[in-house]
Amino acid sequence: MQKTPKNQEYKYALCLVDIKVLGTRTFSYLIPDDMKNDIKIGQPVMVPFGRGRKIKAYIVGFSNYLEEGIKAKYIDEILDNDAMFDLEYLKMLEWVANYYFSDLPTVLKTALPEKFFQKNLKKYRKPNKELKVLNTKKSKKQNILTEEQQKIYEQIKKVNAKTSLLYGITGSGKTEIYFKLIEDTINDGKNVLFLAPEIALVSQLTSRTIKRFGKNSVGIWHSSISEAEKYKVWQKLRCDEIKILFGARSSVFAPIQNLGLIIIDEENDPAYKQTMPAPRYSAIEVAKKLAELNNENGGTKIILGSATPDIKSYYEAKNSNSLFVLNQRYNNAALPKVKIIDMRMERGMGNNGIFSKYLIDEIKKTVKNKNQVILLINRRGFSSYTQCLECSTVIECPKCAIPLIYHSATHSHRCHYCNYEIKNLTKCPKCEHEDTLENFGTGTQRVEDIAGKIFPDMKIQRLDSDSLTKKNEHFEILEAFSKGEIDILIGTQMIAKGLDNPNVTLVGVINADLSFNLPDFRSSERGFSLLCQVAGRSGRGEKEGKVIFQTFNNTNIFLDKAREQDYESFYENEIEIREAFDYPPFSKIIRIILSSDNNFRAEKSAMEISMRLKDWIDKLSLSERLIVMGPAPCVLEKIRGEFRFNIIVKNKLDEKGHNTILSFLRKIILPNDIKMVIDVDPMDIL
Ligand code: ADP
Ligand code: ZN
Repeated sequence: MQKTPKNQEYKYALCLVDIKVLGTRTFSYLIPDDMKNDIKIGQPVMVPFGRGRKIKAYIVGFSNYLEEGIKAKYIDEILDNDAMFDLEYLKMLEWVANYYFSDLPTVLKTALPEKFFQKNLKKYRKPNKELKVLNTKKSKKQNILTEEQQKIYEQIKKVNAKTSLLYGITGSGKTEIYFKLIEDTINDGKNVLFLAPEIALVSQLTSRTIKRFGKNSVGIWHSSISEAEKYKVWQKLRCDEIKILFGARSSVFAPIQNLGLIIIDEENDPAYKQTMPAPRYSAIEVAKKLAELNNENGGTKIILGSATPDIKSYYEAKNSNSLFVLNQRYNNAALPKVKIIDMRMERGMGNNGIFSKYLIDEIKKTVKNKNQVILLINRRGFSSYTQCLECSTVIECPKCAIPLIYHSATHSHRCHYCNYEIKNLTKCPKCEHEDTLENFGTGTQRVEDIAGKIFPDMKIQRLDSDSLTKKNEHFEILEAFSKGEIDILIGTQMIAKGLDNPNVTLVGVINADLSFNLPDFRSSERGFSLLCQVAGRSGRGEKEGKVIFQTFNNTNIFLDKAREQDYESFYENEIEIREAFDYPPFSKIIRIILSSDNNFRAEKSAMEISMRLKDWIDKLSLSERLIVMGPAPCVLEKIRGEFRFNIIVKNKLDEKGHNTILSFLRKIILPNDIKMVIDVDPMDIL
């Protein structure tokens, strides 16, 4: 560790402030002599700002110099001797800012709770309502690892690599291994960060962990936790009062002391990457940076876990002897049998509905036997749309050029990019025929409506992103489901993962091929993993599980591999394609999006930047290892009224290549009507 400079030697402190018109910025202040012994990085202080105003700030650095022409004022008061973050923490944030082409103030805004800069925090001390999940009780019964689990656990303990990958088919007991590792870490006096990709999964893991370890020293951190709660968790973390912090993506910025272990469950989930807004960071990469920076006390280990690992994680783990595989399901439970139903045949037989006859029969059987059903609606891409049967016009968003999705609850058509909405549309906007509009595709609500008609006596519940907007709703739904109060749970991607309910014996996928068809190099990986994960929800207990994939294209080879849940064979296939086309892990991608409300100008500036970038790379003789593609119109050509063009750079030179590209991009000055977004390691290139 670098020697911490003695503060007495410095005249000025750099103070971080947050002011409405300026955003988060730093200013220099004089350190009064009587503070010199106490002042340190991360302390909250009061400083004068403007005319007679006092505001809260944080110490982020020291210096002996001042820019010319600036007259520094004195710091007023140290508000709390305990620092709210440290130098290492700031270094990590600086890395995020640099690597992801952002800036420190933007990163700070993402990382810190909003209440951070509030003058008086006393009134925020007490959050109004405790999160329901924290009321879970510790259970008396504790599981013992199986032989296979024990062996893998011991191997993981021995490995030297900072990051290990635990690849285990669904239901193999990855979580049980996490628990052992958590127990060891806590016994060593260290703390744990446990990440899940989505809030619903965070709640589930938290409740499962509390059953195991009790609720002492457990904390939660994600975007639907209130700012006051976040601030409270932050303070607890700084006093080392939390042993296990659960969270989604952003919790990787929580200042955990003495961090011994980071678990990243379902590590292949794209939700670990923030795409909008900046900083466009990956929580996994940030976690790796954290582990790299922390070498005290045995350092920090990372466990990535998945039933369908990210191709890059699997490749890296394989090549660094840090891949650990669980092959058996707990209790040797059989993998569920998957049946593929060709919906074109159904059409041929006169069934134009969204449920095949086979699926309907199986649902009836399952519920009759007092078991439960999960129905997945694949909504990646634009699976639902409204079309005029007279003139074939698809109702689109005028600003985004993507189909509008019909919401029956509000009788409105809505754009899921910009929120544009038309209410009570009864005639075609183009040919103006009345009553010729038909809804195609399958939103969750539509499936819920139709299921309600086919199965009038069953209890049907929908879980989608709408349920996440209310604080406890998703948790309550999942709880009701696990108590058997719901027969059929209908949802999107989010119900594909994590749910561990032994009473679920049937999983139906309404539209299995949708995600394979997107023009993106990761679409097979996404489609494969989604199907495997949702299939893994079936037959997790003693009872045998069944899975039904409905498809319009039963020749897709990935569908077959997903049917067999054969990740290794999928991987072998996929890694060859990645290598042949220089896709990750054989390169790193930087995506540059140029956009403007003027199509022509957007394209022109994209062409100019691409050309200059290629020239520059040529001059450096790097064009074999830094490959610039495009510009081309994005698949989503127009979003919120802006025309978008893509430039893709494949970097085969690691850090050097990365810095070369970013330093070029930093010098670009754009006209006011052109926007540029840089997405480093993008999750998709749509
Ligand atoms: P994964 O995370 O790999 O999908 P889980 O850890 O959720 O698997 O385990 C699947 C199911 O099997 C869970 O209900 C879990 O409680 C049970 N299970 C796994 N390992 C054991 C064990 N060693 N003893 C008792 N139950 C176990
Ligand atoms: Zn729109």
